[in-house]
Amino acid sequence: MKLKIRLLANPLWRLAAQVSTIGLLALLTACTSYGPTGLKVDRSYQAKSQNSRVEFIVLHYTSTGNHASLQILTEQNVSSHYLITDESRPEIYQLVDESRRAWHAGVSQWFGRTDMNAGSIGIEIVNPGGNGKNWSPYSPAQIKTLIALLHDIIKRHQIKPYNIVGHSDIAPQRKVDPGPRFPWKQLADAGIGRWYDQTAVDGFIQQFQQTSLPDILTIQTDLERLGYATPKNGRLDKPTRNVIAAFQMHYRPSRYDGLPDAETIAILKALK
Ligand SMILES: [Zn+2]
Repeated sequence: MKLKIRLLANPLWRLAAQVSTIGLLALLTACTSYGPTGLKVDRSYQAKSQNSRVEFIVLHYTSTGNHASLQILTEQNVSSHYLITDESRPEIYQLVDESRRAWHAGVSQWFGRTDMNAGSIGIEIVNPGGNGKNWSPYSPAQIKTLIALLHDIIKRHQIKPYNIVGHSDIAPQRKVDPGPRFPWKQLADAGIGRWYDQTAVDGFIQQFQQTSLPDILTIQTDLERLGYATPKNGRLDKPTRNVIAAFQMHYRPSRYDGLPDAETIAILKALK
């Protein structure tokens, strides 16, 4: 699938004009550039030890329509790098350059890292969301477009599978998007994100039929091992149930009540 990305701030005709004007000059001075102050910077040496500042991809739903989403994400105190519309042929808008910070994650944590806006790319998908019981599906065309965009971003920034997350994974006490209708399994089948081995899950389920389920502290420790910010108090309190519900929405969306049933804990154990 060929990616077509609309850059609002830089219409293509303007980019094309700039490129043709400066193209020849750039070729002649490939390793030297001049900043706004006229300072000469030599870029002919590049360090071997470097990598992308982008380590995470965070997926969201907008809970509003195309027009309102575009307006909110460009004019208010919230933004994302990309917005995928829900038209029959979905558009990909790029609203923030990948080298810059978008404001989409808020108070969040993953593998102990806070300030997720600093090291992530945020993708908003137009979808009405849900009310806790009923949720709107994502269209096949949206998911196809998203998968193509994700492949492109993952390759360029070398994003690890376990660092492709939903907003609910990094902020389970506040957020439920992208929601239980988001097709994480379909993404995994396309080679995107972390997933489990079903045989291993079946083995753990069998094991739990003979022994009881692990205690809550062990479950909390396993959730933390997989990246989630989790209480470590050995109690199935509301914050712990919220984390389990976020985990279920991602890996076992048929039931996301936050209760540690055998299948949920088997998936938790099977994930690496
Ligand atoms: Zn969100």
